[in-house]
Amino acid sequence: MPDDLIDIAAAREIVLATVRPLEPERVALADALGRVLAEDVSSTEDMPPFDSSALDGYVVGDTGGGDLPVVGESRAGAPAREALGPGQAMRISTGAAVPEGGVAVVGVERAQAADGRVVVPATKEGANIRRAGEDVPAGEQVLRAGDDLGPPELGALAALGRADVLCGAAPRVAVLTTGDELVEPGGGPLAPGQIRNSNAYALAAQAQRAGARVIAREIVRDDRAHTVETLGRALEAADVVVVSGGVSVGPHDHVKPALAELGVDEHFWRVALKPGKPTWFGTRGDKVVFGLPGNPVSAIVTFHLFARPALRRLAGGDAHDTRSQARIDVDYPREPGRDQVLRVRLGARPDGWHVTPTKPQGSHVLTSMLGAGAFAIVPRGEGELAAGSTVDIELLP
Ligand code: AMP
Ligand code: MG
Repeated sequence: MPDDLIDIAAAREIVLATVRPLEPERVALADALGRVLAEDVSSTEDMPPFDSSALDGYVVGDTGGGDLPVVGESRAGAPAREALGPGQAMRISTGAAVPEGGVAVVGVERAQAADGRVVVPATKEGANIRRAGEDVPAGEQVLRAGDDLGPPELGALAALGRADVLCGAAPRVAVLTTGDELVEPGGGPLAPGQIRNSNAYALAAQAQRAGARVIAREIVRDDRAHTVETLGRALEAADVVVVSGGVSVGPHDHVKPALAELGVDEHFWRVALKPGKPTWFGTRGDKVVFGLPGNPVSAIVTFHLFARPALRRLAGGDAHDTRSQARIDVDYPREPGRDQVLRVRLGARPDGWHVTPTKPQGSHVLTSMLGAGAFAIVPRGEGELAAGSTVDIELLP
């Protein structure tokens, strides 16, 4: 491996050593989907809050069964006021409070009711009663700082009575795409040499999926002054600047000199990775800049490997949550000097997860990303990686 290429793992460590979580903020529960919790959350009360019935049926005052008088009703939201004595029954609905003296519930399909009485079989103490605190007793920790807030977490927070929660801030991201050849989708037919700006959309979507707010998207022309001006504005407004293309060393690649002129310090440049070698990372104070390759697959791969962990860390979340392992189903030629990132389909088998490449793997073959559930990393080396080998994978969110 040439000395000037850095390993994926070392590059990622440099990124993570550089970024710290942003100041947390209070977020209304209804807006908290996809955010990262920034506080530990314990229950202040029993959940569920009272003993309740698991069924529609009859709550009984003893377990003996028989022909019992029905002395009242407990409905959800309208508990019975009377207590229940031995030899008595009360109608009860699912979720309704078990009245004082109630020892078990018999489902309606096992009971015959007529004329204010009900015949029920013998039952067991506690049958079909959900106890207060059975899910979570008062005082128990339910969620932790760093947890991702998905649908079940939001449901749990609501059940705990929380109208808002402290969340990690959503990092502000500027997505800049460089190239005189770029045309926005909807921008009419392509003139000779033009291509559509796909990176702006894929990278912005990746940033959003990582919990960021995309505050700017701009095309940067292959012009030094325009590059300095646009990058300079992005650095003022955003926590993280992601710029694609123009980072190499051609006469029309202005990103690196522009960043140097703006006082952004380089932390690494060029990773032992295919696709994605021309990747640049730097900082200016708390501001973080990723210079990603222009090729569409390379841009997505390097965003996932380097920018996503940074965004997750800034938001207070787990930066390593997508890592796993799987068996590869095909022989695959290794590259001597670079680890390869394959776009793979994921499938479960009795012996665990398996991966297989989606289609030919050129860095310009954007559709190789379609249907890819993961990236698989083929370590550099000689010869072929044999089918059946275990490889590191990165699950794609
Ligand atoms: P560059 O890194 O600027 O030399 O670009 C490398 C390749 O990626 C070229 O073929 C570019 O046309 C292509 N490319 C650069 N930016 C984008 C973009 N935003 N969307 C799609 N392809 C791009
Ligand atoms: Mg370019």
